[in-house]
Amino acid sequence: MKNKIDALKLASQPLTGNCSGVYFLFDEQELVYVGEGWNCFLRVAEHTKKDSDKVFTKWNFIEIRTKKERKRVEREEISRFKPKYNKGLYREPFMNNANGKACSICGKWHRLEEYTYGNRANRSYCKKCNKEERAAYRKGGTSAAREYRENKRSKWKSA
Ligand SMILES: [Zn+2]
Repeated sequence: MKNKIDALKLASQPLTGNCSGVYFLFDEQELVYVGEGWNCFLRVAEHTKKDSDKVFTKWNFIEIRTKKERKRVEREEISRFKPKYNKGLYREPFMNNANGKACSICGKWHRLEEYTYGNRANRSYCKKCNKEERAAYRKGGTSAAREYRENKRSKWKSA
């Protein structure tokens, strides 16, 4: 038995490092989610857990080494196909990096004007989220504000 295990050990496959890319979850013929990761196998395995809200029957991925390029392709494909489990990340057609960006709380794309308030430009939260976060803070302090942010983010951000 020991020899057998030693042989298995030598031939075993690493879980890391060699499948970095953008992955696609399909429910039959429908593309339902696009994600990226330095290890697609692990990320897809996470989506198969019981508490995952994603239903899919097949998956595939394209290998992309650099994180910057993976993020770019992920955004592009989400924006093109608007898969139903990618909540909020895709932008409206009239928006691009020059005239808008995604709110870091709700994940929705807004025009840049939406991020200028209180005499400051280029904030990271949209007005609505800023207002709601401050309301949470007034009620329960820092921890309530954090809880508000994490709650909203968990609705559209994958871990
Ligand atoms: Zn927002």
